[in-house]
Amino acid sequence: MSKTTKQFQTEVQQLLDLVIHSLYSNRDIFLRELISNASDAIDKVRFEAHSNESVLEGNSDWKIKLIPNKDAGTLTILDNGVGMNIAEVEENIGTIARSGTKAFMQSLKDKVSSDNPELIGQFGVGFYASFMVADKVTLFTRAAGSIEAGCCWESAGDGSYSIEPCSREKRGTEIVLHLKEEFKEYLDEWKIRSIVKKYSDYIQYPVVMDVTRTEVPKGADGKEIEGAGTIEKTEEEILNSMKAIWARSKSDVTEEEYNEFYKHISHDFENPFRTIHFSAEGTSEFKALVYLPARKPFDMFFADRKKGLQLYVKRVFITDKCEELIPDYLRFVKGVVDSSDLPLNVSREILQEDVQIKRIQKNLVGKVLSTLAEEKEKNYDSYVTFWKEFGQVLKEGVHFDFANKEKLQDLLLFESTRSENGSFVSLKEYVERMPEAQKEIYFITGTSREALEQSPHLEVFRSKGFEVLFLTDPVDEWVVQALTEYDGKQLKAVDRGDISVDSEEEQKEKEKKREEAQKEFSDLVSLITDRLKDKVKEVRFSNRLTDSACCLVADEHGMNANMERIMKAMNQ
Ligand code: ADP
Ligand code: MG
Repeated sequence: MSKTTKQFQTEVQQLLDLVIHSLYSNRDIFLRELISNASDAIDKVRFEAHSNESVLEGNSDWKIKLIPNKDAGTLTILDNGVGMNIAEVEENIGTIARSGTKAFMQSLKDKVSSDNPELIGQFGVGFYASFMVADKVTLFTRAAGSIEAGCCWESAGDGSYSIEPCSREKRGTEIVLHLKEEFKEYLDEWKIRSIVKKYSDYIQYPVVMDVTRTEVPKGADGKEIEGAGTIEKTEEEILNSMKAIWARSKSDVTEEEYNEFYKHISHDFENPFRTIHFSAEGTSEFKALVYLPARKPFDMFFADRKKGLQLYVKRVFITDKCEELIPDYLRFVKGVVDSSDLPLNVSREILQEDVQIKRIQKNLVGKVLSTLAEEKEKNYDSYVTFWKEFGQVLKEGVHFDFANKEKLQDLLLFESTRSENGSFVSLKEYVERMPEAQKEIYFITGTSREALEQSPHLEVFRSKGFEVLFLTDPVDEWVVQALTEYDGKQLKAVDRGDISVDSEEEQKEKEKKREEAQKEFSDLVSLITDRLKDKVKEVRFSNRLTDSACCLVADEHGMNANMERIMKAMNQ
């Protein structure tokens, strides 16, 4: 294949236009993005080497090198990571492969303008951030383990890029940024040092740069030799501390460092909602640094979404998607676990069965749930913001995590006949404000609060002053299947079975009236029964209405209307 020129995927070009033309408030982060990619690439080749050592090609002196060249006006970022072959470059650099990003681009298109530049900072522009400071980017790369698969890619960010095979002796990727005239400051040693320190200090591989110092030569006694003039000395210097942030003690880590690390591992551009950093000792020894994001990702409910936490064993990277560490209903949690107990050559199969992993998971779940409980207790408003993003996922836990049902049920929030639109009630509050005559917890399921407000089923509850929870998420049907009671009180659907909200005397009184009416109007009832006999099981007089003439009721154990709708949608 010779050199070819191709067009960027439309979305990529839109993204590039945003990057180049929006007044981006923090250009420095382009370097963080490229260093982060280089670090990911080294992680990948190390991981591959577990099963196939030949990919190392005898080179495991991990390094990310920054090379400023003032004469050429270029800044180069060089790594000895996994590299890419031509197809991978096309796939990773020419298109946006990540699910969700496209949808996000679509929603951003209308919102981003020069007076709203912050928005672009909210999602990962990644590699394309280079074009904030460069008017041309050249990328040389070669995939680990295949000498022939070298490739050269180049673009000015103007709609097209060129790509051609090229041979490269060394594995890894080299990115040359031809800096725009006004951004030559990024060639300055101190500028580079400060950006690396600020955004990439925790990167666990050395980020190095050749630094030239002018010195007066020293004699054998270590003293400067007088009259000897000066000499230039160039040394490769490591710019970052490389300290694994999770291995440090909490008091040593600043909030900014925690946040930067979060952005590195999550590819999120926003700060996290909460940071949980702890170590466990005893039967299971590990350190964990996990984060609860502030906003739900677009692909939260996509089946093929990548999930899991990063797993290290004694500071050695094992995998970045260990699904076994966190249950599905907490799939939004991001972070790192570093175990001291697992063997370094741990395999997929072992991970699935391992008791240590199960212990770690149990411990993590406990921490996440207690953090949320504390948040709900102490910062209710911010908990509500979190709940609106992740409540729907968290609810899955009530169904799937029996062991933590008690904790989860207290994290639930619902709208109700007594909450204002958009505000919530917890089960605890609900029970606390129940009138004395009320013995059960009532709920109604459906698609929206507005629709449910109209339901005739609510009439009798309103007249009694009994609160009814609005369950409007599809997942709520599963929640109430698992959660049949709370604090000794049954949860009852207002539209299911023969529900009674009256005291015994009231019941007797009403029952008498109902029987009389049933007798008096028996002809009417048989007429209606006859007409509707293919559609309903039974027609009867009811005590549950106060204003409306009739309503549909489900069997105690049958499906209600909402559940039927959901099953239909699922083709059941
Ligand atoms: P992200 O890092 O969020 O996946 P980026 O835009 O930063 O998105 O990078 C896109 C993809 O390009 C990466 O996922 C990776 O596959 C590839 N890539 C980028 N930089 C490198 C590199 N230095 N070495 C190998 N692959 C890289
Ligand atoms: Mg990236």
